[in-house]
Amino acid sequence: MALEEISNKIYGCRKCRLWQGAKHGVPGEGPANAKVMLIGQNPGAHEDEVGRPFVGRSGRFLNKVLAENGLKREDLFITSIVKHVSPKNRKPYPDEVAACLPYTLAQIDVIEPKIIVLLGETAKAMPRLEGIEYLEVIHPSAAMRFNKMKDKFQAQITELAKRARARGLIL
Ligand code: SF4
Repeated sequence: MALEEISNKIYGCRKCRLWQGAKHGVPGEGPANAKVMLIGQNPGAHEDEVGRPFVGRSGRFLNKVLAENGLKREDLFITSIVKHVSPKNRKPYPDEVAACLPYTLAQIDVIEPKIIVLLGETAKAMPRLEGIEYLEVIHPSAAMRFNKMKDKFQAQITELAKRARARGLIL
């Protein structure tokens, strides 16, 4: 299945309640052959508005920290564990995460990333697949609010860049 086909399924999906309050499905974006994939919690209001992942304040913060570490956002595939916004941006419920999981697994199947970065607690529900290195990091929306977490997040992204460079996945 191509990424576009997965996106089209997401746009029309009614498998859990989240689509009801959403303007757009947010499948994610990035190259189909990305070596590194980032998975966050859920699209927020800005993302829902435009149908793209990490475009609000936390997205800008994420882009900045990636760039500081020599990582180009456009080289990475960025998505979230559920593809529609939650009411009042609450955490997705386990049944919503379970319903949406096949889409992220299908994206992984196409992209075949070498490293998957799990942003925040909810993304940790992703099953660990053989042959893929997983990194658990703080969610950027939490990291940008608290200095201590910001330092830790920056160190985690530095570690990601180090590992990706050591494996020749990025320049
Ligand atoms: S969040 Fe996922 S499972 Fe729920 S309706 Fe949207 S695409 Fe379907």
